[in-house]
Amino acid sequence: MRVLFCSSEVAPFAQTGGLGQVCGELPLALAQKGIFVDVILPRYKCVNAAKIPIKKLNKDVSIAKINDKVQVYFVENDELYNRDGLYGDKRGDYPDNLERFSYYSRKTLEIIKQLNIQANIIHCHDWHAALIPVYLKSVYKKDPFYRQIKSILTIHNLAYQGLFERMEFVKLGLPRTLFSVDGLEFYSYINFLKGGIIFSDYLTTVSKRYAKEIQTPEFGCGLEGVVAKRNQQLTGILNGLDSSWNPQTDSFITKNFSSTNIEDKSVNKKKLQKDFKLPIASDVPLFGFVGRLSVQKGLDLLNKSMKEITKLNVQVIILGTGEEKYHRMFEVLAKKYPQKIAVCLKYDETLAHRIYAGSDFFLMPSIYEPCGLSQMISLKYATIPIVFKTGGLADTIVNFNPKDISGNGFVFEKYDVLSFVRCVKSALEIYENKDLFGCLVRKTLTYDFSWDKSAEEYQKLYTQCLSSD
Ligand code: ADP
Repeated sequence: MRVLFCSSEVAPFAQTGGLGQVCGELPLALAQKGIFVDVILPRYKCVNAAKIPIKKLNKDVSIAKINDKVQVYFVENDELYNRDGLYGDKRGDYPDNLERFSYYSRKTLEIIKQLNIQANIIHCHDWHAALIPVYLKSVYKKDPFYRQIKSILTIHNLAYQGLFERMEFVKLGLPRTLFSVDGLEFYSYINFLKGGIIFSDYLTTVSKRYAKEIQTPEFGCGLEGVVAKRNQQLTGILNGLDSSWNPQTDSFITKNFSSTNIEDKSVNKKKLQKDFKLPIASDVPLFGFVGRLSVQKGLDLLNKSMKEITKLNVQVIILGTGEEKYHRMFEVLAKKYPQKIAVCLKYDETLAHRIYAGSDFFLMPSIYEPCGLSQMISLKYATIPIVFKTGGLADTIVNFNPKDISGNGFVFEKYDVLSFVRCVKSALEIYENKDLFGCLVRKTLTYDFSWDKSAEEYQKLYTQCLSSD
C-alpha cells in the first residue's frame, strides 16, 4: 500500500502546532506497519533549518529521504513560499494564500504523475490541502493516472477553513459550476475545507468526541450540516505521541526521570523556577501552559480567573506565541504578579520540554480541542492536566476520584470562571495530600499514548477505503 501525505506542515521541516507534529510522526508509525508513505509540502524558507539534506529533482520539486519507507517532497516556488512565515506576517494572513495553497494542491497532483508516484491513497490534512480531492474529482477525473486514487481528508481543526473572496474563484481553474452551495460556496465566499469535505472519499478527525461535536452548531463553525451529511464516511482517530516524548531519555530536560526515580522530577521544577526567575520553592505548586496563543486555547478564561488563582499559593509559567492581544495580556499579568506568573512569548522546543517536565500541573482550559497533544505529553512527564471537558480532552482525561484512585487529571464541565477556579482548587487539595498526589503522579507514567494504536486504525481505514467503490 502506498499513501501520499499532503500537509502544509510537517515536522521537523515546518510546524506551528499539532498539525506539523502529527504529519511528521504519523508517516513513520505507518511505515512501521509496512505502508510506504510519501509526504509533500511547500518548500518554505524554514525548511532548511531542519538540517536534513534536500536534493533538487527539477525546478518544481525537491526531495529528502527520512528512511527506507518515507520520502518527503517539497513543492518549489520561491515567489510563493520563500518567506519568513508559513501563513502570514505581523500584518495578518498573506493576501495571496489562495494562490499559494491552490498551487500547492495542483502541483502536488502534477508532480506525482511526473515522478510516477503511484499512490493508492492521497491523505490530505486541513484546508491547505483540501482542494486536492476537488481537483481529483473534477479537472483530473478523466486522466487514467489518477482514476484509481482514493482521497481522505483529515480535519485537525474545523475552525480554519481557508475562506477567500468569490471573485478569486477563477484563479482556481475549477469548473464554474463548483462555486455553488453544493460545492465550494460558503455564504458567498470560497471555502477550501468545504470542498474537501464534500469531495474526499473518506473523512477523519482527531478524536471520537470531536467527530461528533463538529456535527453540531456549537462546534461545526457553520459546516455542521456539510459534515453531518458525510457522517457515514467520518471516523475519529486519536493522535499519538512519538518516542521522543519520554522523560527517561529526553535530552532537553535538566534531569531524566521515570517511575523508579520520580523524585528527580523536582530537579526539573527547581531549574524551571530559576530560569523563569520565580521564587525557588519545591512545595509551591507550579502550573505550566504551552500552546498557540489563540482564542481557542481559553486564554480569556485564564485571564479572568487569574485574580482568584493568584490569591492561591501557586506559580504559573506560560510559553506561547500567537495573537498580539494575548502577548500583551500575558506581559501585563507577568508584570502585575512577578512572584507568581512568568511568561516566554515565543516558540521554543527546549523550553516546552522543560515545562512539561518541571510543572506539577498543566493548564488546558481550551474552549474546544479537536485532539490536543499537550495533555498527553503532560501525562508522559507526570504532570497533571487540568482541562475543560471537550473534544480530545474529554476522550483522554478523566477527573481524578480520590475514593478509588480512578482518573488521571482534573476536568471542569461548565465553561466559566467559577468552575475553572473550583477545579484548580480541587487539584490543589489533592496536591496537599502527598500520598494521594503521589498515587496520581505515578499512575500517569503508565499511560500508553504511542502512535501504534492510531496507526493501526488508519491502516484499517485505508484498507476499507481501497475496497470501496
Ligand atoms: P494545536 O494543534 O491546536 O496547536 P496541540 O495540543 O494539538 O495544539 O499541539 C500543540 C503542539 O505544539 C504541542 O506539542 C505543544 O507542545 C507545541 N507547541 C505549541 N506552542 C509551542 C511553543 N510556543 N513552543 C514550543 N512548542 C509549542
